[in-house]
Amino acid sequence: MFDLLLDETEMGIRNEARTFARGVDSALLRSMDRDEVEYPREFVESAAEANLLGVRFPTEYGGRGLGWTSAAAGVAEVGVLGSALACAYSMPTIVGTAIDGFGTPAQKEQYLARTLRGEIISAEALTEPRGGSDFFGTTTTAVKKSDRYVLNGQKRFIVGGLGADFFLVYARTDPDADPKRGISALLVDRTEGVTTEHRYELMGLRGGGTARLVFEDVEVPEENILGGPSGLNMGSVVFSRMMVPERLTSAAGVLGMAEAAIKIAAIYADRRKAFGQKIRRFQGVSFKIADCIMKLDAARALVIAAARAADADVDADRTRRLISEAKCFATDRTWEIVNDCMQVLGGIGYTNVYPLERLLRDARLPTIWTGSNEVMRAVISHEYYRELLGHPDDGRDIGSDTTGFEYEVEKVYE
Ligand SMILES: Cc1cc2nc3c(=O)[nH]c(=O)nc-3n(C[C@H](O)[C@H](O)[C@H](O)COP(=O)(O)OP(=O)(O)OC[C@H]3O[C@@H](n4cnc5c(N)ncnc54)[C@H](O)[C@@H]3O)c2cc1C
Repeated sequence: MFDLLLDETEMGIRNEARTFARGVDSALLRSMDRDEVEYPREFVESAAEANLLGVRFPTEYGGRGLGWTSAAAGVAEVGVLGSALACAYSMPTIVGTAIDGFGTPAQKEQYLARTLRGEIISAEALTEPRGGSDFFGTTTTAVKKSDRYVLNGQKRFIVGGLGADFFLVYARTDPDADPKRGISALLVDRTEGVTTEHRYELMGLRGGGTARLVFEDVEVPEENILGGPSGLNMGSVVFSRMMVPERLTSAAGVLGMAEAAIKIAAIYADRRKAFGQKIRRFQGVSFKIADCIMKLDAARALVIAAARAADADVDADRTRRLISEAKCFATDRTWEIVNDCMQVLGGIGYTNVYPLERLLRDARLPTIWTGSNEVMRAVISHEYYRELLGHPDDGRDIGSDTTGFEYEVEKVYE
């Protein structure tokens, strides 16, 4: 649908990811949805085998050396499989961005390269029981003890809490400092002291190993601070970079889900008859499908624009705004799209005879995670005001483009 917005290389990745997604056995999706799968490790290994995990990482670590737009085009195709597999597929891109951007050469060899080869599974452990939106309120601590850091705390809702081999964990390493200068990112192996305390029973995203992790006196070697000694207390810088992979993969992933839902509804509406004719002949149905397509196309265009901004890497504030817009817009629209597609199917859409109800359960989560959509809106308005008020004289004086512009006395603000 959006071939004209992607260049030849990006289309190549899209096509490879499409072929890969087509080859995934639907029996896996069914058993994941029945919560029979702890973690889809073989799926991640097969994505690694197809060399699709490291689209935007350097070739020396097994990546493709491409950009965010290529990566997003790939994630969008895998998104057809639903949230859990899209998330498992995206996690190497998310955690890998931190390692690629801040890790030491040894960390890149040990963690990034092995993740991209499918040898080890990564997870990101940021959210705590006390809250996910307030990153700087983290209470997990890592205290120095000779050449190690002793990690204590809990992280909640961690995809791969069951199944992952290592975790990117944020912890306070300087309790006296302002949190912006007292948190570090650590690469924590699943070793002694790391336990999985609770496996969540979820509305959607089943089979992704989402769990609460407890770290109790976990000894983390000093060299596992992301970036080595110079990475100490640099967690806020890492976190700020991570907004791009987290939000962009969320935004791209839901495009596939929305597309899947529209296809199911459109085909159903072409076959199902009521009052002697195909239901798609009713305006109430066909307009719904038209609205879904418009929303999906608009979301896709915004996701690609945001990915291009991240690739251009010239204006961090603008990129942050666009990425947040893409995440918020694409996930909100997808929720509406899947909901409307369910309506097109009538009662049978509410059953498990068609995959719509699973897609609906899956589509709910992306409006909450990787920064809730309320937090996205806060970022968007903050960045817009910063831009607007930072350039008050930029462009045309629109205020005079009205016949009453001279009535200054009527312009009351307080
Ligand atoms: C199934 C699942 C999988 C997840 N996977 C992971 C994972 O792999 N790794 C990980 O680290 N986290 C993960 N998360 C956590 C997810 O990112 C958080 O749930 C999310 O960031 C919200 O945090 P919270 O649940 O603590 O809600 P809170 O932060 O307590 O927020 C509660 C409500 O208050 C609103 N709110 C909070 N602050 C503001 C504000 N400033 N302005 C406006 N509204 C605000 C929120 O939007 C929300 O509606 C996952 C969550 C789920 C449910």
